[in-house]
Amino acid sequence: MKILVMGPPGAGKGSQSAKIVEHYALPSISTGQMFRDAFNNNEPIGIEAMKYIKDGNLVSDDITNEIVRIRLSKHDAEKSFLLDGYPRTVAQAIALDNLLEEMGTKLDAVFNILSSNDVLFERMEQRRVCKQCDATYHLKFKKPLVEGICDKCGGTLYQRQDDTYESVKNRLEIYESKTKPLLDYYDKKGILYQINGMQEFEKVYNDIELVLRDL
Ligand SMILES: [Zn+2]
Repeated sequence: MKILVMGPPGAGKGSQSAKIVEHYALPSISTGQMFRDAFNNNEPIGIEAMKYIKDGNLVSDDITNEIVRIRLSKHDAEKSFLLDGYPRTVAQAIALDNLLEEMGTKLDAVFNILSSNDVLFERMEQRRVCKQCDATYHLKFKKPLVEGICDKCGGTLYQRQDDTYESVKNRLEIYESKTKPLLDYYDKKGILYQINGMQEFEKVYNDIELVLRDL
């Protein structure tokens, strides 16, 4: 099972991806996470990437393709994986297809979680992330059991730097111009599944699972 989860920032793709990964025991490949880890470890690739990320911009294709190539060549990604936050441009999608073809494989399904801009802005402002394990919460749709504390590990929840209004606005504009064309790209390949993200978390997950069961 090799899948990709897409959607505008704030549509809930991070939380949905986390649940799919847990349920199906898939390796999760999140470029955002890999860049943040690299940044926290003071690795040059992470420091370079964070210059783009903190302003809500896309990290350059070269840097992004490289970090994905390194990750996909690891043993655990041979049979299955979930890509989260990559590819974000058609150029990256083509690079990914070429890479997978070299590896003798391909993507099985692409999920696009749909949402409206109003809902997205509200969601982003209410999003909280665990400092320790990166689990995501939402003050309305996916509340932690104890306010400000992660259910999974007891870590402190915080608002990410790139979840501010200006950054969200910038990310939505980038999504419209660069990422939306990807939907056509995958639709033409016949592997795109549109999922209504303006529902409760569990309902969105069930819609995704209905597709996964038939893969
Ligand atoms: Zn946690």
